[in-house]
Amino acid sequence: MIDVIDLKKNFGDVEVLKGINTTINKGDIVAVLGPSGSGKSTFLRCLNCMEDPTGGSIIFKGVDIADMKVDINVHRRHMGMVFQHFNLFNNKTVIQNVMLAPVYLGCKDIKKAKRKNTGIKIKNLFRSQKEDLIPIEKTKEQVKAEAREHALALLKRIGLEDKADVYPSTLSGGQKQRVAIIRSLAMNPDVILFDEPTSALDPEMVGEVLDLMKSLAKEGMTMVVVTHEMGFAREVANRVLFMDDGRIMEEAAPEEFFGNPKNPRLKEFLSKVL
Ligand code: ATP
Ligand code: MG
Repeated sequence: MIDVIDLKKNFGDVEVLKGINTTINKGDIVAVLGPSGSGKSTFLRCLNCMEDPTGGSIIFKGVDIADMKVDINVHRRHMGMVFQHFNLFNNKTVIQNVMLAPVYLGCKDIKKAKRKNTGIKIKNLFRSQKEDLIPIEKTKEQVKAEAREHALALLKRIGLEDKADVYPSTLSGGQKQRVAIIRSLAMNPDVILFDEPTSALDPEMVGEVLDLMKSLAKEGMTMVVVTHEMGFAREVANRVLFMDDGRIMEEAAPEEFFGNPKNPRLKEFLSKVL
């Protein structure tokens, strides 16, 4: 699904990613481990185009999204992202947070189709235009109603349907992060990228977030997870990457990764965290 080829990222003179190569297949649960500053967040941010790569390619569903000419917004909507600090909109209610992107993009699609259809009518006034028109199947009201229904179903899934109309500031950290996760699910993404989703949580809330992530994994969601949760990497991931100094130093199935690490830096890292 995602082929990363010689991905490089510099900030000024600093080389942060020095040539990352990996493939993320449909249904993969990839855990990304590595010391602070090794480039894990930068790697994720490049994957969903929040940072422009300095070099290399990211082939997502056949299109190189590292290419500046590609409209990244078309592809980004198929990638969810979950951050350490939740990044919910505090001035919107819980359900508004979950509905925001689907409503925005659904309405944008309608607008775009309307504009295109009118344009075609003017340009090809005397030709048969029917096959050139983009069908507009829904009204804005329908888009909103469907997004609301989907959001409520997702909130129900995490047991927070009664919190639909409250503001995020009234939620616990674990609840906020679970809302952030279903917010990314609301777009029906092909893949969800997680950047240390449990690192900002009180210990007693880590479990509820990991449980939700495990249930997504069971359903076959493709996930890339930067994490310090060794238990999650070991039990849930099918592949573990170790990043150090802007490179992937080791990549293996969890049994091999934890049971028989080869790279000396990985051995040292594991001896500190396990
Ligand atoms: P952590 O475990 O602490 O989150 P990380 O592996 O996610 O670390 P990154 O956040 O990707 O590491 O940062 C890698 C390096 O890139 C660091 O040295 C950081 O200072 C640098 N860096 C990251 N973002 C920027 C930026 N926007 N401008 C300049 N330097 C940056
Ligand atoms: Mg980071």
